Amino acid sequence: FNEIPTGYPIPGKTTVYDASQTIDLESTALDGGFLIKTLVVSIDPYMRGKMRDPSIQSYTPPFFVGQPLDNYGVGVILRSEDPLIKPGDHVYAFGFPFQQYFVAKDAKLFYKIQNEEKLPLSAYVGVCGMPGKTAYHAWKEYAHPQKGDVVFVSTAAGPVGATVAQLAKFEGLKVIGSAGSDEKVAFLKSIGVDVAFNYKTENTLEVLQREGPINIYWDNVGGETLEAALEAAAPHARFIECGMISNYNNQGPYHIKNLMHLVSKSIQLSGFIVLDLFAKYDEEFYKTVPGMVARGEIKYLEDAKRGLEAAGDAILEVQSGKNKGKSVIIVADE
Ligand code: NDP
Repeated sequence: FNEIPTGYPIPGKTTVYDASQTIDLESTALDGGFLIKTLVVSIDPYMRGKMRDPSIQSYTPPFFVGQPLDNYGVGVILRSEDPLIKPGDHVYAFGFPFQQYFVAKDAKLFYKIQNEEKLPLSAYVGVCGMPGKTAYHAWKEYAHPQKGDVVFVSTAAGPVGATVAQLAKFEGLKVIGSAGSDEKVAFLKSIGVDVAFNYKTENTLEVLQREGPINIYWDNVGGETLEAALEAAAPHARFIECGMISNYNNQGPYHIKNLMHLVSKSIQLSGFIVLDLFAKYDEEFYKTVPGMVARGEIKYLEDAKRGLEAAGDAILEVQSGKNKGKSVIIVADE
């Protein structure tokens, strides 16, 4: 991490690739820990919020200038002095530094991937990792689906939105999904979304008024889309506030115009951070979702780049909507 951005994070300026450091894989000290070879790191929208003045408090720690970025990742253990972790184990955790190799401690923080389903390991940072948990856990906690409900999902082709859309279809509900390109809209249709539209070429409010009123809104973007959802909401609708990516890059303060609908329509609005739901739903999630993915019951798109030098481009693409599915960096194959 090279410089705190003022707007969009620029590859080569906000972040730089630095190949100057090396590690001796045979002799580097483990001090009771283990040596990990990074296989996959995840690129997620919330990383922009970590590129801030470190004195500003938030739910997630900041990145520090001069230090590697870090995020969810998957790796394989090369050497270990920890009895809980063995060489050859595949692990998933938060806080993988964007490095090819690193020494870690505290095995409790690492989820051992059994992968009986033989999924690509990158799935464990996407639909079977944090974004999939975001969809699964918060749907369980806040959606309260009723027969006949109409569900609207924004950013519906991303790893969070597409999983939500498919969970809603499993409940037999009518799903409206918005996305930012015709290619993403085609994917939404392929996963059974009833009304898929490109919000850049169609008016969101018009679509919602035609196809709604909506009982559940899964909000990934905030801004004008949230305003439209409030306008088209049914009485007693549930709004699940997952993200507000339309304003992650300092586009300026956005004041939602029609919040009075919350009152007049008795809307229940639930914001959440998925970390708070891990303890309650993780076990059930790992028993359920990888199997559904393996059987093709939950489908996902992945946008993979190779090599850590591509991380800056991938971060910018996620912030500007150019990624086509879950953004991952494949650091090594094995
Ligand atoms: P994606 O991989 O789908 O990537 C982000 C997508 O956001 C882009 O591809 C783009 O899709 C859309 N986007 C970008 N800029 C804008 C914009 N200005 N206006 C509207 N949409 C935009 O993301 P995820 O599925 O990983 O995450 C979806 C949301 O969930 C994000 O808001 C994220 O912050 C949030 N989140 C929240 C968590 C929580 O704990 N509350 C945990 C994880 C994620 P398109 O082309 O369709 O516009």
